[in-house]
Amino acid sequence: MMNIDIINPNAKFYRYQNDNKLRWLSNDDFVIWHSRTELKDEKYLLKPNWPECCPGHRSLPDNIVSYLSMFPHCCKSHKTLVDADWFTLEKLKRLPEKILETARQTENLIASKLDESDWYDHITEWIEYSIESFGQLPKGFGSPIALNVYLSHIEHILNCSYEKIYQPKIDKILAFINSYESHDGAADQVDIIELIGKYNKWLEIFPWQISYLTHLKAHFENQIPILSGEKKYNRYSGISKIRVITEERLVTFLMESTQHILKEVNAKALATQGNLSDPEKKCFEIINARRDHELMQLGENINDERKKLYKLFKQWFSGELRYLKEITPILEKLAEEPAIKSAGTERDRKDHYEIEKLHNEFCPRMPISEAVQHFKILTSTPSKNNAPFLTEEAFKSFIARAFGRMDIGKQKINFGRGETNLIISLFAEFFQKASRQWEPSGQCKDKYVSLLTDNFHDWKKSKVSANFKVRPGAWQ
Ligand SMILES: [Zn+2]
Ligand SMILES: [Zn+2]
Repeated sequence: MMNIDIINPNAKFYRYQNDNKLRWLSNDDFVIWHSRTELKDEKYLLKPNWPECCPGHRSLPDNIVSYLSMFPHCCKSHKTLVDADWFTLEKLKRLPEKILETARQTENLIASKLDESDWYDHITEWIEYSIESFGQLPKGFGSPIALNVYLSHIEHILNCSYEKIYQPKIDKILAFINSYESHDGAADQVDIIELIGKYNKWLEIFPWQISYLTHLKAHFENQIPILSGEKKYNRYSGISKIRVITEERLVTFLMESTQHILKEVNAKALATQGNLSDPEKKCFEIINARRDHELMQLGENINDERKKLYKLFKQWFSGELRYLKEITPILEKLAEEPAIKSAGTERDRKDHYEIEKLHNEFCPRMPISEAVQHFKILTSTPSKNNAPFLTEEAFKSFIARAFGRMDIGKQKINFGRGETNLIISLFAEFFQKASRQWEPSGQCKDKYVSLLTDNFHDWKKSKVSANFKVRPGAWQ
């Protein structure tokens, strides 16, 4: 059982979203006292009179006594404990027997596992568990108490007790121990706070106020890409750990996401989809966003990744503005060109209809709002590549074309790797709903398969039809 004291009553908790189990606490705020280790179901392989068996072992209790007689005057960091009101030597009363017990269990475990195929995992998990059992002092108060006595004993035993054929394995275990000794026993929690800060700064810098970027904001606000995703289970401590990503990886992630979004979602992409409306309003938004960035940087001497970000945005803003300025007169001209339009020109003007007011020609008994509501999720959910499945404008065009039977071109659904079945599921679910409530007969699967394949580019009817089923929970 972990024996933890919160020493700062004002300590702040940091909670990872949606997961009440992960709470981060600054390591200024708590102390973890040592605790016993437990080794179950191991055959006892050491000498019966351990540690009285030989001088190498005899030195362990001696070292414990001499360490504790010096403590906390053993080193500069531990000396600061003298003045800490939360610290008493009483807390260390059982430490000598704890060290002996953990050392004995460690030697026994190494002896029993070294010949097994998964020796490395067993031994390193055990050592990790043992190291953690020495607890943790708040930041600035030095390494866990007596951890070095334990580790140097184990190193000594590894170096002296095993035959030469074990040397490669011993070297690996020693390297593992060394990697622990090289950091001073302070936890990584402080870095997490820094990572959260970095991420929040990125959220602040990103120009979500530009209307064609706004829909992505919720997705990024609701996640903090701070855990690396690989969970590692330690069979001895019973704890699964998720590694915290490094600052370097977070910065790379932010730069890559930014580049990706800006390349995918821009005025040119809107124009390609036939969705570039109100270019003046877009110019206005970009000019303001650019000015916001200038003001943010005013008088600041920024030397971290934000410098690169600002530069990237500056480039993007000026490219967007130039493009919008060049394309606007051309678009206007094209719109005036009557030859391009078929009959019913007025209906083609994209800005002149409200999708909610259209009549549902696709399934006349169904109110069009049902369709709008069902497919709206495509605009509010980002795909794996972070861009939404449909932009607002592509969505509007899809509803107008498929349900309002308006003369508007096919759209393209954006999706990431492995997401085609997710999209098919949304259409299959729509078919299920419609056939139960609004269609005169349930025999209309083909019609609903075509709803996807006829209104979007690059969907094959045979393939969609073969996979046309609802995947429960896919869109929750
Ligand atoms: Zn011995
Ligand atoms: Zn010390």
